[in-house]
Amino acid sequence: MPELPEVESVRNGLVDLVSERTIGKVTVRWDNIIKEPESRLFQKKLEGQTIETIRRRGKFLLFILTDYVLISHLRMEGKFRLEKAATPLTKHTHVIFSLDDGQELRYLDVRKFGKMSLINKGDLLNHPSLTSLGPEPVEEDLSIKWMTDYLSGKKRVIKACLLDQKLVAGVGNIYADEILYDAGVRPDRSASSLTDEEISVLRSSIVRIMKEAVEAGGTTIRTYANAYGREGSFQNSLKIYGKVGSDCPICHTPFLKTKIAQRGTHYCPICQS
Ligand SMILES: [Zn+2]
Repeated sequence: MPELPEVESVRNGLVDLVSERTIGKVTVRWDNIIKEPESRLFQKKLEGQTIETIRRRGKFLLFILTDYVLISHLRMEGKFRLEKAATPLTKHTHVIFSLDDGQELRYLDVRKFGKMSLINKGDLLNHPSLTSLGPEPVEEDLSIKWMTDYLSGKKRVIKACLLDQKLVAGVGNIYADEILYDAGVRPDRSASSLTDEEISVLRSSIVRIMKEAVEAGGTTIRTYANAYGREGSFQNSLKIYGKVGSDCPICHTPFLKTKIAQRGTHYCPICQS
């Protein structure tokens, strides 16, 4: 699943390509991708809208249009591609936005888990998909006080808290493992057991790793690539994710893999406590 750095890379790749383009005909070939409004209305409302810019919040792409915002969540395998209208459609193309320059912005999704909502601009801040999101994982937004208040009294394991988007937006399974290894915190620790110092270290790890991953254009595992088909390179910087059986470079103990918060989880039994 694309996490914040991969979604940011998609945004970054698309924004210059489609900003100021006006949308013509929209074709939805798989209705379940469209969460709201109903698919025919979705297509009709988009006609004539100009794409002002594309923003991102957590793992959501926000296409800012003349009157609306198109909220897109790529979930497992969603992708946007810009193609000439004459380019044949592939089997997994589910939504097609014709643009006024003769190109088409196409949404492809092998698993069909992605979702799009078209909402009035004024409703963005109060939209349920965004209101429960925690702060962005950046220095200015993610405060120690917020993290301390949020985690105090939480019995859930810390990895589950990193994944659920409420403590911090944008972290998924890969970066959660990297962050917890970097911070030296075992993924199955109960959230309320973290000391003030551990929370402070964890915050620094979240901010630094997400920043480095954004700068690297994200992690390319399986099928992720941005709008140019360009791949991110953070997979070369992963320290623990996918490295079960390799030795920890710090203590030389083999990394372990287990299931925590229903997700495959990598950790070092010595360096993380
Ligand atoms: Zn170790």
